[in-house]
Amino acid sequence: MLKNTGFDPLGYVNRVKEILPKIYGKKPLALINTYGCQQNVSDSEKIKGMLTTMGYGLTEDVEKADFVLFNTCAVRGHAEDRVFGNIGVMKQYKQKNKNMIVAVCGCMAQQQIIADKVRKSYPYVDLLFGTHVTTRLPEFIYKRLTGSGRIFEISQDSSEIVEGVPISRDGKIRGWLPIMYGCDNFCTYCIVPYVRGRERSRASEEIIKEAECLVKSGYKEIFLLGQNVNSYGKGLDEDINFSKLLRRLNAIEGDFVIRFMTSHPKDCTKELIDTVAECKKVERHLHLPFQSGSDRVLKQMNRRYDSKGYLELINYAKEKIDGVTFTSDIIVGFPGETYEDFEKTVKLVKEVEFASLFTFIYSPRNGTPAASMPDPITRKEKGVWFNELLKVQEEIGRSNNQKLVGQTFRVLCDSIESEGLLSGKTSSNIEIMFEGSDQLLGQFVDVKITQYTNSLKGEIV
Ligand code: SF4
Repeated sequence: MLKNTGFDPLGYVNRVKEILPKIYGKKPLALINTYGCQQNVSDSEKIKGMLTTMGYGLTEDVEKADFVLFNTCAVRGHAEDRVFGNIGVMKQYKQKNKNMIVAVCGCMAQQQIIADKVRKSYPYVDLLFGTHVTTRLPEFIYKRLTGSGRIFEISQDSSEIVEGVPISRDGKIRGWLPIMYGCDNFCTYCIVPYVRGRERSRASEEIIKEAECLVKSGYKEIFLLGQNVNSYGKGLDEDINFSKLLRRLNAIEGDFVIRFMTSHPKDCTKELIDTVAECKKVERHLHLPFQSGSDRVLKQMNRRYDSKGYLELINYAKEKIDGVTFTSDIIVGFPGETYEDFEKTVKLVKEVEFASLFTFIYSPRNGTPAASMPDPITRKEKGVWFNELLKVQEEIGRSNNQKLVGQTFRVLCDSIESEGLLSGKTSSNIEIMFEGSDQLLGQFVDVKITQYTNSLKGEIV
């Protein structure tokens, strides 16, 4: 049973609230830089919620900021380089504003090697804290503002889920809703289990409560988050799994839709596919990362499914879910992958006909098993394979989209492209642009697709 400690049991929020005006003589401003996935976006919303509750305002302007935080991602090397570049720039701002606090958190910060580097090479970083202690931010700020030395806290304890953290949401249409944290899968290329800890699920009543609150506040899309949402419920005392959770969310009154990410194919069950097919509010799209079409490579990746099983799932979903679309992540050039292996990936891509793909050239992550596997293929060669795959997918995307011209879909208007031009997504996660007033943002409208060039365009009917 997971402990629910409640947020801020030691009262640091109020303590910070009291001292901020004395230190800054005004409402101090905080700037949050977020890198990486939606989980980080969601974490940053909690961080902003804690900061505003403590008395900070928010800003996008580093010149005006009194607290600057980098919420980092460790999944790919180039993102890390970018973060270090941006932290480096803070030296000049810190010289101008002596009371400024510079902080680093997130998946990069959770790694000892990164913490050591920051400690040594970036002396103007005041706080560094890992993914398991984010909710202790008020304590860290209080201690730093009241004379503590630099604070570096990367506790490995990931057993607790802290509920009741205030959230300052970025948008008003889509609400991110984490349902579980961490991952137990240990895919050999992936750093996530090392930086996010073991898999743990939130109690379903907390999730339902948060979803109801989002719907009441006018949110139209509830986006469930987790490294592996399909294994939701493991370790909880209650009789629940992801399918049951979806059914309970689907039963909440109101006009809204439910999306989720990410699903692991090994945990994607027929029960889940049936649930998506039967629940009207659950969108008809599955993000099901297959990573490689070669069973040999999948084994090396420790993915624990094979291409045959994956295709069976896809075909079952095509049969059951009307209009279903699929997206996937693919790694090109995993250590030891041959061109023959890569051809199997291309074959699978052609067979499934994905709506779109998130394709990456393999990037070694320190501390993962794959980083020490022999990798004889050059980056240049991997780049050629990568481009070949992109071309195949472009052609599939073109052909899929052309077939949609003339059809009408219910679309949630979620953004403004330019003056008078809106865009939104269908239930199958297809993006359409159409003319309309910004009053329609956050509303469902029926849109007929009229043309496809580089994107789908339509008109409200
Ligand atoms: S399922 Fe694999 S790729 Fe996904 S977070 Fe877990 S270890 Fe990483």
